[in-house]
Amino acid sequence: MRPVKEALQHPIFNTVSEAAEALGVEVYVVGGYVRDHLLERPCTDVDFVCVGDGLELAEKVAELLPGKHKVSVFKNFGTAHIHEGDWDYEFVGARKESYSRNSRKPDVEPGTLEDDQLRRDFTINALGISLNADNYGELVDPFGGIADLDKQIIRTPTDPDITFSDDPLRMMRAIRFASQLGFSIHDKTWDSIKRQNERIDIISKERIRDELNKIILSPKPSLGLDLLFKSGLLVRFFPEMVELHGVEVRKGVSHKDNFYHTLKVLDNVAELSDDLWLRWSAILHDIAKPRTKAFNDKDGWTFHAHEFVGSKMVKRIFRKLKLPLNEHMKYVEKLVLLHLRPIALTKEVVTDSAVRRLIFDAGDDIDDLLLLSRCDITSKNERKVKHFLRNLDNVERKIDDVEERDRVRNFQPPVSGEEIMQIFGLKPSREIGVIKNALKEAILEGEIPNNREEALKFAVRKGKEMGLKEARTI
Ligand code: ATP
Ligand code: MG
Repeated sequence: MRPVKEALQHPIFNTVSEAAEALGVEVYVVGGYVRDHLLERPCTDVDFVCVGDGLELAEKVAELLPGKHKVSVFKNFGTAHIHEGDWDYEFVGARKESYSRNSRKPDVEPGTLEDDQLRRDFTINALGISLNADNYGELVDPFGGIADLDKQIIRTPTDPDITFSDDPLRMMRAIRFASQLGFSIHDKTWDSIKRQNERIDIISKERIRDELNKIILSPKPSLGLDLLFKSGLLVRFFPEMVELHGVEVRKGVSHKDNFYHTLKVLDNVAELSDDLWLRWSAILHDIAKPRTKAFNDKDGWTFHAHEFVGSKMVKRIFRKLKLPLNEHMKYVEKLVLLHLRPIALTKEVVTDSAVRRLIFDAGDDIDDLLLLSRCDITSKNERKVKHFLRNLDNVERKIDDVEERDRVRNFQPPVSGEEIMQIFGLKPSREIGVIKNALKEAILEGEIPNNREEALKFAVRKGKEMGLKEARTI
């Protein structure tokens, strides 16, 4: 663990210390910054707790900082923020909180530093460092946070039933920190989460989403998602994922557990990419398997069309989880829809036209799609894995080849609808659509090369076949 003293190298700590001294109040650095410093994780968000008026302290700090600084006050939370370059400072007065059972809004009153540490979620988040003249740089650790950092344990500073009942989001946060840091959750804390999982229902979907996304972005997201599943939390807000769990056997034939398969795919993706939406695509790629599952004597278990059905499920899931209904959602829909295509290509003789179609359908997301399909190979049979990966290498080479030759990625028709209208002297009409589509098909099928001259000839020929007359010759 990094020495505590080194945490205070930035000039802000002296400034805050001076400001507090001038006002005659005690001040401490607390929470995430202290934890991350000791764990050698980068952190530029600093929380200051003073035993007194946090807003007054923030004003004083702003005065002492070189240059002009705005203090933003959040009245509801009693906090004040200052932004300096890459750094964010939050100031708050030490407080005591008491909750009533059916509300997330606590009664707040001023308290001591220890009151304030006690209302925090976990011991590792309740560490303080003094910025006061008499014990500057000293660690204040009333709940054994350092020992828990050492043992890599997430534990509430007080009775977990109280901590979680006061703010049930803390159950998600416990799992989020376990997943981000690779820590385990203390037995009593874990038992309490399992006992109280239903209480997550009173938490807003937005707060749940933020923690869920942090779990998904952690280095090995399966850790957190498996804990969400085992705690009984996941089913409360994302039942579709829980439905993936389990194995059915019929006539001695079983299928794989799609929940753990999905987690494996997600971890594989996480090793190669930090992109949240690619990770979401991994989570959702097989989401429709439970609803498309069927058994027959000849083929055993099948999941026909799960990619179509799954892609259709994305929007509802995004809406329910308050994920954005924008281009990120469209990207996930597309990757879910296409996730079997690269592997399907390896099973047949790969024709140029099949490759062109895949490039056309995937557009700029072709590389992400290939990455997802590599990560989707989770067989325990090493030989099988090697075989599939080698085949995917071939597909990738072929894609590069075809793309270099035909440039169908982000396909733009070499002849526009406008031009076709001029050629035949037509207004926008069904015929124009038919010609445009035939032209696209001819290029993708490789019947004509992707260039203007050939495309014009094709469009004229096609129009004439349809009984149209040229209004102007080309
Ligand atoms: P990160 O910034 O990575 O999300 P963090 O621990 O800094 O992690 P913040 O949400 O920034 O989390 O909160 C700062 C501190 O405030 C925490 O370290 C913790 O002490 C306290 N805290 C935050 N949310 C809660 C909560 N729901 N219940 C109790 N304490 C909390
Ligand atoms: Mg923080």
